[in-house]
Amino acid sequence: MSRQSVTTWTTTREEAGQINQRGGIPTISLNAHGMDDTVKQILEKVLQGCRITTSEGEVLFNQCDLPTLGAVAQHLKARRFGDNIFYNRNLHINQTNICVLSCRFCAFRRGRKSSDAYSLSIEEYISRIIPFEHYISEVHTVGGLHPDWGLDYYEELFKAVKHRFPNLFIKALSAVEIKHLSQLTGLSIETVLSKLNEAGLDTLPGGGAEILVDEVRDKICKGKESSQEYLDIHKEAHLQGIPTNCTMLFGTVESVSQRLTHLDKLRKLQDETKGFQCFVPYPFLPDSSRLLEAQLATSNEILRMIAISRIMLDNIPHIKAYRMNLGDNIASLALLHGADDIDGTVSHEEIMHLAGSNAPLEDRDTNLITLIESIGGVAVERNTDYTQFNNQRTNRPSRRKGLPVAHS
Ligand code: SF4
Repeated sequence: MSRQSVTTWTTTREEAGQINQRGGIPTISLNAHGMDDTVKQILEKVLQGCRITTSEGEVLFNQCDLPTLGAVAQHLKARRFGDNIFYNRNLHINQTNICVLSCRFCAFRRGRKSSDAYSLSIEEYISRIIPFEHYISEVHTVGGLHPDWGLDYYEELFKAVKHRFPNLFIKALSAVEIKHLSQLTGLSIETVLSKLNEAGLDTLPGGGAEILVDEVRDKICKGKESSQEYLDIHKEAHLQGIPTNCTMLFGTVESVSQRLTHLDKLRKLQDETKGFQCFVPYPFLPDSSRLLEAQLATSNEILRMIAISRIMLDNIPHIKAYRMNLGDNIASLALLHGADDIDGTVSHEEIMHLAGSNAPLEDRDTNLITLIESIGGVAVERNTDYTQFNNQRTNRPSRRKGLPVAHS
């Protein structure tokens, strides 16, 4: 099977791939039969384009049936992006697994003396990219909080990457890594970010948000940045014109109400800065050695979380199905419950795979395009900051599928 690149198009960063729906898309009507009045009123508010509160979000999460919740979220997604589903061609490189912290959910970190501890030199890092250099548009780098690596390592690294691969986007360093560099060097967050940006850092990934409620953070990742520090670091990046993503790790010890609080904090910051491009919710992947009290998330709950994220985060354009964590089957369903973006070809990845993910790692995007087409989507390859797009399609006959919409 082959693939074809069909159309190339661009938007501004603010539009982020939003398309004009000529004539709009059909409105959906709710099947009110048997539906709780409160749930119906909240859904009607959502469909009228009004923002809902965290309490209303909690009612929807807990009481709305999944097909209706998914159909409403999918309708909101279609209003912005039609059938388009975005992906990019990226390579994950985890620069070191040595970490001074020991978050309870983390299967990746190692102590410095561990037999499988590693730290990549700049040459080793570059050599990881070379096999993919003509194929990827982004390198995604997060890792442990190395006790000895200050700003110099990262400045040299980013400069070397940009020198060797000038067109490659660098998405790197989660908020806690920025905080760690600030602590090691004694420089402010503002200075750390601006020096890294000058050296070539293009965007920050959203990792490390976990749940933005300190009571939960104290139980699962004590010592990491506080909720407010996470938000402040992203805010500072936005103020410097560095776009970022944001995430949520759910299914550990948090309540539904705390998940809604998390979404509300992100929504409020986005009202202020408009710097978040994409929200990535993903569930904790359990094993027998970490966080035994984790409540875990069922498939139903994962899809509810995707849908409620689309509904609550009315100001963050993209909701991502993170297939490295969800696996292809749930990721496909997520694309029918409000997600519009899927990460990615991901030629190499360690953090989720050490935590138990079996998601395939691929160098080419044909299977990803096939996955998108199998649920009735139009595959659109994007760049990191959602300004350049390339419609793709396989030569398979179109098989449109999708969720049935709840009609009265
Ligand atoms: S989640 Fe990050 S900060 Fe926490 S232990 Fe793992 S690598 Fe270190």
